[in-house]
Amino acid sequence: MSDLESTTYDWDLFVIGAGSGGVRAARTAAAAGARVAVAEERYLGGTCVNVGCVPKKLYSYAAHFHDAFEDAEGFGWRLAEAPSFDWPTLRDNKVGEIKRLNGIYARLLDGAGVRLINGRARVLDAHRVAVGDEVHSAEKILVAVGGWPWVPEFPGSELAVSSNEVFDLESFPERFLVLGGGYIAVEFASIFNGLGSDTHLIYRGELFLRGFDHEVREFTRDQMRQKGVQLHFETNIERIDKVEGGLAVTLTDGEILEVDAVLAATGRRPHLEGLGLDTLGVALDDGGYIKVNERFESSLPSVLALGDVTGGPELTPVALAEAMHLVRCHFEDTPPTTPLNYANIPTAVFCHPNIGTVGLSEEEAREQFGEIRVYSADFRPMKHTLSGSAERCLMKLIVADASDVVVGAHMVGEEAGEVIQGIAIAVKAGLTKADFDTTVGIHPTGAEEFVTMRTPTRR
Ligand code: NDP
Repeated sequence: MSDLESTTYDWDLFVIGAGSGGVRAARTAAAAGARVAVAEERYLGGTCVNVGCVPKKLYSYAAHFHDAFEDAEGFGWRLAEAPSFDWPTLRDNKVGEIKRLNGIYARLLDGAGVRLINGRARVLDAHRVAVGDEVHSAEKILVAVGGWPWVPEFPGSELAVSSNEVFDLESFPERFLVLGGGYIAVEFASIFNGLGSDTHLIYRGELFLRGFDHEVREFTRDQMRQKGVQLHFETNIERIDKVEGGLAVTLTDGEILEVDAVLAATGRRPHLEGLGLDTLGVALDDGGYIKVNERFESSLPSVLALGDVTGGPELTPVALAEAMHLVRCHFEDTPPTTPLNYANIPTAVFCHPNIGTVGLSEEEAREQFGEIRVYSADFRPMKHTLSGSAERCLMKLIVADASDVVVGAHMVGEEAGEVIQGIAIAVKAGLTKADFDTTVGIHPTGAEEFVTMRTPTRR
């Protein structure tokens, strides 16, 4: 691209979608001197801020109070009356907080000198985008439109809500059912169970959270059951019918459950409808995700894509990392010399208790390294000696035997995400079990188990 050509475009970068990845790319590209516009049709901050991570975590906090009230008694607290939960308070306070965050995003874009255009964009060709009646030309177009909940079709499937609607239910579902066995399913089963709903989770396989460490999945299953979530495995929803006072959900095993709300948490798909990429021949993979190279270029090199629409790990911090890498590749003087490294991405699932994990599962490590050592601790946290709660904690390290490198760390327990974030640095750095062993514990914490486990549970 010659200087003359580049100045003929309205923008150096036109971003479609003001979610986590799009906003980060827009701001960092603008900071690098690019002229940037962003088109957004719905809400600033995308899924994460509006119908994902942020409201989910707020609701998870709300649900944890349930345990806290129960735990308090053993520590001498007497509540004057049984606590009651008011759904509209939580829902409406959440709405207020998200409005505040939307405003922060608008100010961030404005402060970075990025023009925000409201409306759904349509890509006309390799360098032109239409938003409503306006047509913009750009040297590069970034598609950062994210994903959208996908619900399988069955009789009555339109009566189910998705994670887009579940936060704003008109009334609190005293009886709640969630279909699915991924992140969203287990998180919302825990949330509504904690908030006081009679909660069912329906999963088609024999054990939910496919892909996670098997022991973590079993431990989580037992803990969630013990907290009152009714887990139904190896079954599916056959149909949903409206009945007096609620919904009748017929399962494929014949059981019929009457509930007030059904959440379908059955995965997300790229949100590409109406974007015009099909007519441009932008290559998609079998799942319908945009195929990109290491520079986040699609098969049409001026059209870039990142985040959930590209089918990588659907996690906000991954989209942020991709955005910064993309900007370095395309708008900075010193492009990165290596591709973005996707190894050892830590993640948390905010079911109750939480799961935190980084690196390989025991099964993956055994396949990759053959000889491994597993160190694990399954214990009653100190807090529950007085609380009387039956909640337990699982911590687990997977070590490649030959190198002594810790290749996986897993936890199920209170604030597992907070703990694993720290451990993730050590795993990412490739530290050995000997390094863990020479680290002094912080006493008394649960996390000190990660540096005090000395005898392998199994090899
Ligand atoms: P997932 O892909 O994680 O899970 C989808 C679930 O739905 C799976 O258990 C799947 O079963 C099941 N399923 C799929 N199709 C059907 C069907 N036809 N009938 C019945 N069940 C079906 O998607 P989620 O919606 O839970 O979440 C989407 C993504 O969002 C996650 O993968 C994650 O990356 C991200 N996310 C991250 C969070 C976090 O970081 N804490 C929180 C929430 C979401 P099977 O396993 O058998 O395929």
